[in-house]
Amino acid sequence: MTEVTVAGVTVDTRHWIGGERVGSADTFTDVSPIDGAVLGEIARGGRAEADAAVAAARAAFPGWAATPPAERARLLHAVADGVEARLAELAIVETTDNGALLRSHLRGVMPRVAHNFRFFADWLTDSLGHDDFDTRGHENRVSWDPAGPCVLITPWNAPLMLATWKVAPALAAGNTVVLKAAEWTPLTASLLADITAEAGLPAGVFNVVQGFGEEVGAALTAHPDVRRISFTGSVPTARHIGAAAAANLTPVSLELGGKSPLLVFADADLELAVELAVEQYDNAGQVCLAATRLLVDAAVADEFTARFLAKARTLVQGDPRDPATDMGPNIHPEHLARVDGFVRRALDAGAKALLGGGPNTELGGLYYRPTLLTDVARDAEIVREEVFGPVLTLQTFTTEDEAITLADDTRFGLAATLVTGSRERARRVGARLAAGTLWVNCFFVRDLRAPFGGARQSGIGREGGTWSFDFYCDVKNTVTSPNGWH
Ligand code: NAD
Repeated sequence: MTEVTVAGVTVDTRHWIGGERVGSADTFTDVSPIDGAVLGEIARGGRAEADAAVAAARAAFPGWAATPPAERARLLHAVADGVEARLAELAIVETTDNGALLRSHLRGVMPRVAHNFRFFADWLTDSLGHDDFDTRGHENRVSWDPAGPCVLITPWNAPLMLATWKVAPALAAGNTVVLKAAEWTPLTASLLADITAEAGLPAGVFNVVQGFGEEVGAALTAHPDVRRISFTGSVPTARHIGAAAAANLTPVSLELGGKSPLLVFADADLELAVELAVEQYDNAGQVCLAATRLLVDAAVADEFTARFLAKARTLVQGDPRDPATDMGPNIHPEHLARVDGFVRRALDAGAKALLGGGPNTELGGLYYRPTLLTDVARDAEIVREEVFGPVLTLQTFTTEDEAITLADDTRFGLAATLVTGSRERARRVGARLAAGTLWVNCFFVRDLRAPFGGARQSGIGREGGTWSFDFYCDVKNTVTSPNGWH
């Protein structure tokens, strides 16, 4: 079997290598987290498929790199057109595969996928240029040259959005790509391969391999012909990828996990603070940026907590295809067990569940109740480790210094959110926090021109706008003498 049909949409389950569908002897089973339904068998790649995909990307590279930027941009806009034309199909397939809300996929995520292509296509023609300057009569010309075949490895929590956030700039800059999507959510990467072919992308420019991280992923990241590795995922995997990249000295970009704080000061608009805090349950808490540590001024903590609980209790949990649902399932039984393990150990250590604290037994399956834990020690596992589920902790502080100390007491540094009525406080506190993104009185506002990435163990490097191109290009300075011309 080489295809599956999901909600009436046919998805090829083979790899996409060199402009052709390629199968593997082995397969793995793809299951929907919504109801445990088996979606189908997916080709399970290994070293041979990794080698073939990198060879295809390598063969296609000179032609694509030499394609005029305006033509590359035209093709990327054609990909965006294809995404828009198939938006509803992509949305339902991804919802079925990863359990995130259909309404979010339709309204926000899939339009953003198309926008990723349009944004980097336009950036390529508008902004990616040359710098010229003169040194004692010699002309310096700085150019941004495509680097070569890029390996892109992505997670399951926002599969197509996170993949195209890498695919689009890599291709725009003139590189060729091998994408390895997460094994729990392989389907929309395959649909993207169809869309790129329909848009007219030459064979080998964009390749997709399916399979497990430790198998095909490890083979790709260890490949000596790869010129860039861009990874979004967890810290433990990043260590493997960093080691593989080090062997070949391949430049690597790492977008990793977080344990971000949300600080609510006594001068905050509490309604806003509650709204932002409850938003942290989005995607069943499976968001790298989620501010999972609520740090609240003791002076307003009771009122904040009461209002938070009232609002969080109105969240509707259920089938993510239903427009009335606010929170769907977690991704996989293994993941759910991991989330629950964190909560059980926290409760055993003396934490108190003000909300939730276990699976949703009425719904069964992979549905976990939105959970708020308090009475947590500063060095407790639940405060230190990324849970990646609908689990928040609540801690209080009495001074601004204490708030900063608590917020900063982490090995991560992806994001931080401040809720305060004082601009001066926001500036003062923000300056002392390690975070790639700092939101003040807002959350999740993203602009593709802005740098995105993490401090400390939340990552290495930045993506977005010029930062993406800096990563996907080799910068060359050409110095030309005014003499010696015939
Ligand atoms: P993961 O690290 O388990 O897997 C991510 C990808 O890496 C998958 O495609 C997997 O197959 C692959 N992989 C696993 N082992 C590999 C290996 N040895 N070599 C090569 N590839 C390998 O992460 P996940 O569970 O899919 O995603 C959740 C994590 O991702 C969380 O930590 C979350 O915070 C993080 N994340 C970060 C961002 C960000 O932008 N910073 C965004 C989303 C998710």
